[in-house]
Amino acid sequence: MKNSSHPVDIRKGFKPQRDWGVFIDRDGVINEERHLVYKIKDFKIYPFVFKAIKILNQYNIPIIIHHNASVIARGICSVKKVIKINEYLKSQLDKKGAFLDVILFCPHHPTAYDKKMILNCSWRKPKAGMLNYVKKLFGLNLKKSYVVGDAARDILMGQAVGAKTILVKTGHAGKDEVYQAKPDFVLKDLKKAVDFIIKKEKL
Ligand SMILES: [Mg+2]
Ligand SMILES: [Zn+2]
Repeated sequence: MKNSSHPVDIRKGFKPQRDWGVFIDRDGVINEERHLVYKIKDFKIYPFVFKAIKILNQYNIPIIIHHNASVIARGICSVKKVIKINEYLKSQLDKKGAFLDVILFCPHHPTAYDKKMILNCSWRKPKAGMLNYVKKLFGLNLKKSYVVGDAARDILMGQAVGAKTILVKTGHAGKDEVYQAKPDFVLKDLKKAVDFIIKKEKL
């Protein structure tokens, strides 16, 4: 899969200060899970997210947000609008002095409404295309990195590249999925996951 069909947002001047990062799923981890998010008014950021992101920023830990965006393939929403929602997320974090380093998503779906989008794309979770792309771009060691998600597909994606996987109990909480997965760690939410990572890495 060429990257041309995958918009990637990289924070201006971003240079990883570590050789590993935290790869965070969006829906159900950052914002409330509302099956197929495509409106800003449905994009409700969990209150603990601001602090969690700030802590990672404080330790210069690269933060990569990844999400499937089948709303595009399903013809519900444009790529532009998905980018707008992510811009909204960044602006809300910015107000609290928190920032994200990379945001990327896969707009494809194997049974898409939009014919151009019918792709068994290597970026669509549980495939690990997004992780491998960021690895190549910034030389991150995926085995030292963490993947945080609320769904089994996030965990499977992380395991496919040997990353450390954390399932959070927000959003789908690992239940609402066609896939089965055994995460390395299970924690209440993103804030608890970040506290855990900081402790585990002895920072
Ligand atoms: Mg999710
Ligand atoms: Zn894709």
